[in-house]
Amino acid sequence: MHREIPAARPGNRERVVELLRTRGALSRADIARLLDVSRATVSNVVAVLQAAGLLVESGSTGSGAQQRRGRPGSLLTLNPSAGAVVGIDFGHTHVRVIVADLAHTVLAEHVRTLERDHDARDALRMASVLAREALAAADVAQGKVIGVGAGLPGPINTRTGAIGSSSIGPSWVGLRPADELGTLLGLPVIVDNVGNLGALAEVTWGAGRGAQVAVYIKLDAGVGAGFVLGGRLYRGACGTAAEFGHMTIDPAGPICRCGNRGCLETFVSVPALLDQLGSRHDGARTAQDMVRSALDGDRAGVRVLADAGQRIGAAVAIICNLVNPDRVIIGGELSAAYDILVPSLRTALERDALPFASAQVTVCRGQLGDRAVALGSVAAVLHSTSGFLRRSRPDGPGAEQNAAMR
Ligand SMILES: [Zn+2]
Repeated sequence: MHREIPAARPGNRERVVELLRTRGALSRADIARLLDVSRATVSNVVAVLQAAGLLVESGSTGSGAQQRRGRPGSLLTLNPSAGAVVGIDFGHTHVRVIVADLAHTVLAEHVRTLERDHDARDALRMASVLAREALAAADVAQGKVIGVGAGLPGPINTRTGAIGSSSIGPSWVGLRPADELGTLLGLPVIVDNVGNLGALAEVTWGAGRGAQVAVYIKLDAGVGAGFVLGGRLYRGACGTAAEFGHMTIDPAGPICRCGNRGCLETFVSVPALLDQLGSRHDGARTAQDMVRSALDGDRAGVRVLADAGQRIGAAVAIICNLVNPDRVIIGGELSAAYDILVPSLRTALERDALPFASAQVTVCRGQLGDRAVALGSVAAVLHSTSGFLRRSRPDGPGAEQNAAMR
């Protein structure tokens, strides 16, 4: 596969830095192959970047998200001490913050519970406090942070930065969280939808690695998705692409939080499934309760989850006909019920999609679990190019590496 070379091709130095920034650790041979340049060119560029302190060499086993066993040759990463990234995940009932270095290693991770009907500004303030605590725990000075990424469960208008109506809760609608968080933290902030960020994380470090066209489906209190086409997130004209949960599947169905009727989310979100179990199922208060008892053989739980798989599969078939992915990744809380959901999902997918499209696609479970969105927020900053070299500072104290991303 040939990498698309943009018309204004950046210099080899920038191209090598960009590759390591988005991929983590790579050997010189990997870099030569991915950039389609000679080994000698790569060696020269690497020597210059090493002398500038921007790049370091690690052992052949590597570290962090890019660990590969048995591969000969040392691995190169961006100098971990050249900067750090903060990734934030706003859920319906939690805030998660991850601090990672430029070598793709997680340095600290903090999670805190939110009230279900929380006020948006309180959640943003909590996230800023949590980010400062995580930076202190990682021993990273604020000046070392090259950017903050944040994921929100709602459509974000990329032209205005405002959150749309089918969001996490009424207090978030119309808010510009990148501006608000940027003011609270005094740092540049990128905000995106949680479906997009989960997709980006799985493609960078998880079940979507190597996919040409990856579709990530996030099954939680809300139902979302993210499309990664040729390694890049597809956001559409104004950022609301892949609003999978708001596909109308029954025009006479229940009213959705987006204001429409019969959206997929009204049938297969966690609250919808718990409602379907109703009073029959006193014990099932959460997705974990429901999935655990279904996996233990509870017939009603199995039926509700299998029916959800069928509805999701019919919707995935439409996506397969339109987008022709080679990978569909099932993430979110309900991915714990993968073994119940996915057989009926596959049956509906094979029944409804064009045979060419369904034969091409591998359905698999996400590998990053409940960290996917926070890691995707980190990836979004690492993938954003503007001012990276200018903002990264190779002269600071090294931060301690403790937990790899996978
Ligand atoms: Zn809807």
